[in-house]
Formats: sequence, C-alpha cells, structure tokens
Amino acid sequence: MKRRDFLFSTLLAPVFAKELIANETDIYLSRDEWYTLISLNNRLKRLRRYVGFANFNIISYNQALYYARNYSAIGDFTKDEIKLIEKLFFEDPNQYGFYGTKTVVSLENSVSAKDVIKIPYTGHYLFKGQPEQDYKNLLSDVGPTLVLTSGVRNIIKQLSLYVNKIYYSHGNITKASVSIAPPAYSYHTISDFDVGRKGWGYKNFTADFATTDEFSKMRTLDYIGMRYDENNSDGVRFEPWHVEII
Ligand SMILES: [Zn+2]
Repeated sequence: MKRRDFLFSTLLAPVFAKELIANETDIYLSRDEWYTLISLNNRLKRLRRYVGFANFNIISYNQALYYARNYSAIGDFTKDEIKLIEKLFFEDPNQYGFYGTKTVVSLENSVSAKDVIKIPYTGHYLFKGQPEQDYKNLLSDVGPTLVLTSGVRNIIKQLSLYVNKIYYSHGNITKASVSIAPPAYSYHTISDFDVGRKGWGYKNFTADFATTDEFSKMRTLDYIGMRYDENNSDGVRFEPWHVEII
C-alpha cells in the first residue's frame, strides 16, 4: 500500500466516505454539459471578483446577467450556460438522492437590502428578525469564539457553490448534492446560516465541528435546531455547523 493510500484510508474514512465514493447508479453531467460547467464556473468566479465576496451572496440572477452583459471582464453568459443554469435550478433532484424541500420557486428571486443585515468582518449577511436575533443569542450563549461562516445565499451564490462542487466531483451530480443543496433547495436563501469556531477555517465544514465546545454548547440551546443531523431524511450529509431557524 502506498503511503498516500494508507493515509487516505485511515485518516479520511469513514468520515468522508459518503462524499468520496462513487456508486454505479450516480448520475453525471453529459460530456457537453461538463465543458459548459467549466466555463460557467469560471464566469461565476469572475462575477464574484467583480461584485465582491459579500455582495455576491445576495445579488439576483437578473443582476448577474446584467453585470455579465455589461462588463467585459466577466463576459456574457452563453446560451449553453443559461440552459445548464435552468436545468440545475428547475430539475427534480430526487433523481440524485436529494430529498430536501424546495425553498425558492423563482430563478429571479431577489433579496432586498432592507431585509438583511451585514455582519461585520464575516463577508456575510443575515435576514433581519429571527435569524439575526438567534445569532446574537448564540454569540452571548456560546461565546465570542463562535463566528458566522455563511449566511444569506441568493440563487447565484448557491448556484456557484453547487457548480463548483459538481466540478470537484468530476461531473458527478449525485455526489455533489450530498454536500451542497441544489440552487432552488437551500434554506440559506430563506432563513438558515452556518457557524464555526474562529480560526478553524475549512474544518468548520467537516464533522470535526461536532467535537468542539462551541457545538456542545449549541446542542443545549432550545431556540435553534439542527437542519441536517446524522441520517437526515433529506439525503444531506451530517452538517453540525448548519443552524436551523425554528
Ligand atoms: Zn449551511
């Protein structure tokens, strides 16, 4: 056994097993769609660079089309890219083993600036009202080591995460949808948010977050829920960092 394989089998399995192993029944993009996905992924990254990380979380589909059309640094979306966006937004993800609820009906969904609040130093927004209040309560109950890692995500942001995940899953949509909800199915678009431990970086988005004191404290609080616990019926991986607004 090569050292790399050894490390892989002992360190990563079984925590990530569900995310890494492809099944024969997994559904992939077609060859043409794969090349379209690559150009779409790059265009969305150029768009994010242009509008800024925080703003990218909340811009609408129509705003994205406008910026792409008018700024050559981004470049207009191609017909094939639009077709792929529509497929990923409108198709039924049950075929991929994703059974979550649809949260947004319109591809043109807009997030009004007056309905959200920007959380300093995070690059993220929260919806005013319950989510903002829950986050404030979390900070005071769990402590200052807790931080918002992802808040409001409109369609374009959710699409970009999904597209990027499909890219890194080599076109395997079944595998991608275990860890990122399809663009019409994210609770980030209507209420939920993610938290992590300050300074933990990407580990905040692994099962390791469940071993932190921050998580243990969160479990004792009755005003929030856990949207994606182990073996949730949505078909989503265990996400201890994802706060369900109840
Ligand atoms: Zn989340």
